[in-house]
Amino acid sequence: MSILPFDDRDGVIWFDGALVPWRDAKIHVLTHGLHYASSVFEGERVYNGKVFKLTEHSERLVKSAGLLGFAIPYSVAEIDAATRQTVEATGFTDAYVRPVAWRGSEMMGVSAQVSRIHLAIAVWQWPSYFSPEARMAGIRLAWAPWRRPSPESAPTASKAAGLYMICTLSKHQAEAQGYQDALMLDHRGFLAEATGANLFLVIDGVLHTPTPDCFLDGITRRTVIDLAKARGLPVVERHIPPEDLAKAQEVFLTGTAAEVTPVGEVGEYRFTPGQVCAALVADYDALVRG
Ligand code: PMP
Repeated sequence: MSILPFDDRDGVIWFDGALVPWRDAKIHVLTHGLHYASSVFEGERVYNGKVFKLTEHSERLVKSAGLLGFAIPYSVAEIDAATRQTVEATGFTDAYVRPVAWRGSEMMGVSAQVSRIHLAIAVWQWPSYFSPEARMAGIRLAWAPWRRPSPESAPTASKAAGLYMICTLSKHQAEAQGYQDALMLDHRGFLAEATGANLFLVIDGVLHTPTPDCFLDGITRRTVIDLAKARGLPVVERHIPPEDLAKAQEVFLTGTAAEVTPVGEVGEYRFTPGQVCAALVADYDALVRG
């Protein structure tokens, strides 16, 4: 498989206030964000030239930085405008957007009180993982070897780079075992989420989804809850023990990148994506492209 490296592409990246040539968007090796994970990011999708839920994402980016103790030197409105400018400059009508903010190189140690805060926004083409039809086969999830930490152990409501350490470890193990992704439990042993997407179970016509008290309350998750309610499907947010997977007829994941992705397997449990998955895949597709 030939991979186009992310540091060697044509185009532009928005970097600290201006569009710069893609290959010039570089940082020094002595960057606090790289050593101490003082970095937060977003993942957004562009559909028909428009970023879906742009302001919600910009707001979450600012909030994530605040939870890590730093302030992005741009307002939500300025981040929105910079994002639109970058999308426009790429000319892509369907794409993925990655804003990232981090502490710079002024101080190299745990404490970094006077570091400059940087912001970059890159846009690239990243088609949906699957067509709506192919999705209905359902993906296979392994059990993750790591659990989501408690809010007393990490700033779990932040989309912080450091929280993805256990996600990469979990996804690598799952892929090595032939699965597409891993399902993580939380610190108490309840179902939490996949490594980059939230979880829903369909039990006798009712949607059940874990209460997001130690992981990201996804923007797609909230969108899908609204879509389900609009269809008259009740939604229950609760702490879900893993054994409840035995009661579920359908299971699916939600996320900006994953969109609505039906699940066919979690460890020892099997599901057949059916009417509820098909309806929500279609509703989400119609909404984002509408
Ligand atoms: N959990 C994790 C760990 C994620 O990385 C993501 C993707 N941002 C989500 C959940 C889903 O969030 P959203 O729907 O806002 O993309």
